Amino acid sequence: MLRVSLIAVAAVIGATAAQAEVVKDGDLRVLRIRACADDEMRARGGWVEEIQEHLAFASGIFESTFGIRFRVEEVVEWDSDDAGQGLGDLVDELEADMSVEGVDAVVGFSAQDPRAGKLSKYVALPWGLTPSLGRVSMIRAMVEDESYDLHLAVVHEVAHLFGAFHVTQQDSVMRETVQGPRTFQFDTENGKLIRLMRDYDFEAGVEAIDPQTAERLTALWKRGGGEVDTSPLAEALFNRGIELYNEDRPEDAIALWKRSIRADDRFALAYGTMGVTLAELERYDEALEALKKADELGWPEAKQAMWLIEWREERGEE
Ligand SMILES: [Zn+2]
Repeated sequence: MLRVSLIAVAAVIGATAAQAEVVKDGDLRVLRIRACADDEMRARGGWVEEIQEHLAFASGIFESTFGIRFRVEEVVEWDSDDAGQGLGDLVDELEADMSVEGVDAVVGFSAQDPRAGKLSKYVALPWGLTPSLGRVSMIRAMVEDESYDLHLAVVHEVAHLFGAFHVTQQDSVMRETVQGPRTFQFDTENGKLIRLMRDYDFEAGVEAIDPQTAERLTALWKRGGGEVDTSPLAEALFNRGIELYNEDRPEDAIALWKRSIRADDRFALAYGTMGVTLAELERYDEALEALKKADELGWPEAKQAMWLIEWREERGEE
């Protein structure tokens, strides 16, 4: 009985793996998208058509530049929690709420205005947030605010899905600040990077990127954005480590954070998080070494974590 069910499980896994292959349309890579609109976005009329239009525009740019065509599988409703503290919380929420089944990525549109009713309502907010090489992208869709350009926002954020990084060049769509000319041009390195990652398998994820591709990706980032942004590969490996940690697999998480640090040896958050986790596993010497590095790189919680370890070790010796 058990033998039979194991074979059945193996067959199912095999079928899923075959389906997970990157979808092509002739020479084009197809990016399958599930688009979501939050309650504030839906409060304005024609939201489905509006989202389709933004994604169609961005798809045109990606198709002519990289041979990547978007295919919007569906546009669905999603209710965002107004108590969230910005785009990071919205990304976490969308990840938790929305399935990636049958698509490469989920693109959320939120018209939630965290400044509503506050004195800071004239402060410009980020246009979007997308974890590098992840499966969720969040677009801030506040069109009543004339400074927001959703075409630019969608092109920029989807580029992050493929691992694009921020640059200082003002004539690149990957510039970090929104001021400057309206451009849909990519700087040389990000252009090469998206071509390199064109067939990225979102389901297999960052762990499946082969060493040669990883090396080329890191070299492009060093040349183009290494001075201003964390390595997209390091960020993606770090995020995957967090997922594993949350699945109660701290050892596997640490292995990924080590890979993350190899991709970007100035990534303070990776050193710090690894240090705290090593301390939880009572591997204090390694923990202190990682936290010392995190402290040198300016991670604000490093000193307190080191102090706690020393205090615990002293008590252990009593
Ligand atoms: Zn960005």
